[in-house]
Amino acid sequence: MSLPVVQCIARARIPTTHGPDIFLHLYTNDRDNKEHLAIVFGEDIRSRTLFRQYPGETQQDRMVRGAYVGKLYPGRTVADVDERLGFRLEFDAEGNLLTNSATTWSEENDTLVRIHSECYTGETAWSARCDCGEQFDRAGKLISLDEEPETHIKGGCGHGVIVYLRQEGRGIGLSEKLKAYNLQDLGADTVQANLMLKHPADARDFGIGRAILIDLGIKNVRLLTNNPDKIQQVSYKDQLRCVERVPMIPIHWTDESKGIDSKEIEGYLRTKIERMGHLLQKPLNLHTPQEQETI
Ligand SMILES: [Zn+2]
Repeated sequence: MSLPVVQCIARARIPTTHGPDIFLHLYTNDRDNKEHLAIVFGEDIRSRTLFRQYPGETQQDRMVRGAYVGKLYPGRTVADVDERLGFRLEFDAEGNLLTNSATTWSEENDTLVRIHSECYTGETAWSARCDCGEQFDRAGKLISLDEEPETHIKGGCGHGVIVYLRQEGRGIGLSEKLKAYNLQDLGADTVQANLMLKHPADARDFGIGRAILIDLGIKNVRLLTNNPDKIQQVSYKDQLRCVERVPMIPIHWTDESKGIDSKEIEGYLRTKIERMGHLLQKPLNLHTPQEQETI
C-alpha cells in the first residue's frame, strides 16, 4: 500500500481561548480534493513539505505561507532566521530542511497524537448522539497538559498533533449520516444503520493521516484512541509506529456532573464496544502491563 503524497501549503499560529497557541496546517494530497488539517501544538514541529525551500520564492513568500522559525513580528524580513529568539534554520543543497534539536522537534521523541475525523454534528451542532466533540476537546487538553489530574495520564507537555481528516460520518458524508440517524431513531444501531444504507460500517481511510504525521517528522506515536484498528493505522514501514495507546475516557465516566449524558450516547458507546471492538471498559484499567505488551 503506497503512501498518499501530501503537501502542506499553509500554516498559521492560532491563539486559543483555553491554552497555548496552536499551529494550524492545511494540506493538499493526491487522493482527494479535501482540505485535511493538522492542529499542531509546538512551534518546532515542522512540516517538511512546508519548510522546503522552493526555487524562486522570497523570504516574504515563506513567511506568508507560514514557513518561518520562531515568531512573526511587524517588520520581520527573514523567514529562516528569528534574530529576537536566536533561531536559524538550515537547509541542504536541494532546499530540504536540516533538522537539529535547537530548532526542530526530534522524530525520536514520543509524540501524543489524535487522529480525528470531522463530525459536524458533534463538534458544531452540540450533538449528544456521539462523543466526537468531547473527544476533540479532550485531545487538545491532554496534549497541553503535563499530566491529567483525574486520571494521572501523562500529557503531551505542550507538544502533539491532532490530525483532522475531512471524512464526515465514518466516511459516508453528512447527508448519509443524517439518514443513518433516522434509521437509528427507528431502532437500528450505528453499525446496522450504515449497512442498511449500503455503506460499510466504517468507510474511513487513514492513509492521508499517516502521510501527514510522517511529513511533520513524527515517528513514535503515543496514540489517543480506544479503537484497536487505529493502532494499526499509525504504522508505516520504519517511518511511523505506535509506541503507546493512551485511552480516551468519556468525561462523564470520571465525573458524573460533566461530559455528555444522553440515552443516545450510551447506545453509541455500547455499539463501539460490542460491535466495533473498542477497548473501553467501565471501570477502565489504565496501562496495565499486559496491555502495553500487546501494542
Ligand atoms: Zn460524531
